[in-house]
Amino acid sequence: MIELVPLQRQFQSIRQEMLQALADTIDSGKYILGPNVQRLEQEIADYLQVDHAIGVANGTDALVLVLDACGIGPGDEVITSPFTFFASAEAVSRVGAIPVFADIDPQSYCLDPVRVEEKITPATKAIIPVHIFGQPADMDEMMRIAEKHGLIVIEDACQAFGAEYKGRRAGSLGHAACFSFFPTKNLGTIGDGGLIATSDERMAERIRTLRQHGSRQKYYHSEIGYNSRLDELHAAIVRIGLTKIDDWNGERIRLAGRYRAAFANAPHVRVAEEKPDRTHIYHLFCIESDQRDVLQQALAGRDIHSGVYYPLPLHLQAAYAHLGYRPGDLPVSERLSERILALPMSAFLYDSEQDRVIEAIAAAQGDVAP
Ligand SMILES: *Cc1c(COP(=O)(O)O)cnc(C)c1O
Repeated sequence: MIELVPLQRQFQSIRQEMLQALADTIDSGKYILGPNVQRLEQEIADYLQVDHAIGVANGTDALVLVLDACGIGPGDEVITSPFTFFASAEAVSRVGAIPVFADIDPQSYCLDPVRVEEKITPATKAIIPVHIFGQPADMDEMMRIAEKHGLIVIEDACQAFGAEYKGRRAGSLGHAACFSFFPTKNLGTIGDGGLIATSDERMAERIRTLRQHGSRQKYYHSEIGYNSRLDELHAAIVRIGLTKIDDWNGERIRLAGRYRAAFANAPHVRVAEEKPDRTHIYHLFCIESDQRDVLQQALAGRDIHSGVYYPLPLHLQAAYAHLGYRPGDLPVSERLSERILALPMSAFLYDSEQDRVIEAIAAAQGDVAP
């Protein structure tokens, strides 16, 4: 069986270091916001070239805390992508604001700046571009639009640790950025974790207070906050991953290159463009096909797992029925949801396994009506 993401292989490859980190954490007596969280925050700030990194409980909380720290709440609108994991919009709703969905660019699957600008109203406070599947969104345009309209830009970089945009790291491009260390993310742990990156000193201070019950000094609370901290043990594990992440991303990029070459002339399979000024770190490798379900079944018949990310765009989710969107409102996202298929991708996928995936797609194409 070929898994979509052979996750155990990744963690088994750092098993000894993880066991040592567990032993060290047990012996340290410091389990919450201890030295590993502090060091990880410094290491990631250095890696991203930002002034502040703040560990939190998960990527969703990272988004919620940034929105809250920016004072975004009821009556405010936040523009984001309908083609992403639910959390990108859920966080907006969680602080009481309204997610406004703008359609995506069919080449990169990221928010289309032209569509974003069309959705701006006097109530708009922020834009959340999502670096979907590991390729940064068009951040120069997002920042230009934000400046023109006085908006905050929050990067949802949960799928893009280590990706670059014009030589700068994803996560250092907006006013703040959110990361997730969920196990399947390209930099992950064996549980939940998240992080916020920003160079805005006041925002960083506010988030540090919010993540700890609105408290700067123990048992004194200046505001209503959250309990949203990155665990010491998970910080220790992410620190191990951080020493490998450039190699792991490099391997993903190499495997993506093999897929791209294999599908370059495939009649029924389309692979989205890589933008020339960005590095796509391939959190997921996706193809598009009119016969997506046939391909997925053909792969399953050979014991190869594939996945549909995402089968229903957010503006058509039941949870957002009250927003009043209709099928056809955001056609690029809707069409993509019917065509997209993620193939096995990981730094720990073997070339021989990938060859079997490529063969299976080629064989299935013979079965697919043109
Ligand atoms: C995973 C993910 C999140 C949420 O992160 P969690 O750590 O699972 O809360 C948010 N946005 C995107 C794009 C994600 O992929």
